[in-house]
Amino acid sequence: MEQKIKAKELKEKLFLKRKNTYAEMTDEEIQKADEFCEGYKAFLDAGKTEREACTEAVRIAESNGFKPFVSGTRYNAGDRVYLNNRGKSVILAVIGSQPIENGVNIVAAHIDSPRIDLKQNPLYESEELAYFKTHYYGGIKKYQWPALPLALHGVIYKADGEAVTVKIGEDDNDPVFVVTDLLPHLADEQYKRPAGKLIKGEELNILIGSRPFKDDESSENVKLNILCILNEKYGITEEDFISAELECVPAFKAKDIGFDRSMIGAYGQDDRVCAYPALMAAVDTVGVPEKTSVTILTDKEEIGSEGNTGLRSAYLKYFIYDLAEAWGVHGHTVLSNSKCLSADVNAGFDPTFPEPFEKMNAAFLNKGVVATKYTGSRGKSGTSDASAEYVSEIRNLFNENGVIWQTGELGKVDFGGGGTVAMYIANLDIDTIDIGVPVLSMHAPYEITAKNDVYMAYKAFSVFIK
Ligand code: MN
Ligand code: MN
Repeated sequence: MEQKIKAKELKEKLFLKRKNTYAEMTDEEIQKADEFCEGYKAFLDAGKTEREACTEAVRIAESNGFKPFVSGTRYNAGDRVYLNNRGKSVILAVIGSQPIENGVNIVAAHIDSPRIDLKQNPLYESEELAYFKTHYYGGIKKYQWPALPLALHGVIYKADGEAVTVKIGEDDNDPVFVVTDLLPHLADEQYKRPAGKLIKGEELNILIGSRPFKDDESSENVKLNILCILNEKYGITEEDFISAELECVPAFKAKDIGFDRSMIGAYGQDDRVCAYPALMAAVDTVGVPEKTSVTILTDKEEIGSEGNTGLRSAYLKYFIYDLAEAWGVHGHTVLSNSKCLSADVNAGFDPTFPEPFEKMNAAFLNKGVVATKYTGSRGKSGTSDASAEYVSEIRNLFNENGVIWQTGELGKVDFGGGGTVAMYIANLDIDTIDIGVPVLSMHAPYEITAKNDVYMAYKAFSVFIK
């Protein structure tokens, strides 16, 4: 008997514990999490593309005292600035009380999500139906995208250089668009395809019309009618598609999931589920942080962080250099003394599909924010692998501040893997670790997260930049 009690005590003392947020959080804190997620759902609906999320983030930042960053300015402690990078990524900074050479605290999330982009020359007619040709963006299971209501978002630059903003399919009175699929009765041959080709890339054609232009006997009258509608509404011609960025995203809105409303279902939670908590942690900064905080909401993570709005470009480095220069400090001194949370999602363990996960090291819904020491795949290739020293620092920070957290690895060894922006920031000589929210059905048109985890991400980013 005595031995048994001792074993229980020792287990309590020695074993690693996974904590469920519902067991650990007070009712008051759970209510706070629910309230926080109302703002999160509104952010999801307002920003379904990188451009819209950037615009919404800037709007929220401006209404919380952030001003456009002016290079060369020596800012005062407590000043709030933002840099809008081409309308697709944004950097927010709150100037700290410590000298800039001590480094900055960076939280970096991404605001692009997998989706279906229109090709440059997209519009065609076939058998008197009109379509858009597309090229998908990011890692999607293509078979998930047909037979869903889709909305069209983006921007078109006309011949005269004027920009037209497009957003169709979000209002209840708007039409929506769709990729068609074959009926099961005729799908025998389709079923024999490997799943990755169940729907092929060139089959992701978006149905946009069927009504022909009247009183004319020439061909392509459905296409003509569509162009007439677009010309009347936006003043565009077919050539204007070439200087456009049009993105198809699911037309549905963010909703609570479950009888208990404990989860959120929405498109684009990878990685707005980290971008929104990161943004709110910055705007909710109380007083003056010790170190300058830098919050990055970046573009192009889903296609490898390339391009001048992605984090492989120099835009973050240039911002830090500009900031440093105003105090006569070299930019690399600031970078080398900086620390970063790469705020990105990890896969939540899915009991329906346990096989690709290694349970001891997987992340679970409702068990808090996930610390991912390394991502990558096949022998840790393509990852920055945070140091034990830095993990120790973050572990203590979270434990001392009531952040409920867990570790996570993306699947079993050699089962796949993934990447985030962590390595591109670490490559600037910055200590970096991935911290994010576990997601079910990641990269699907409808992704699932747990509300308490979203709130723990907010809490984690808040204590980090305090
Ligand atoms: Mn991501
Ligand atoms: Mn992703």
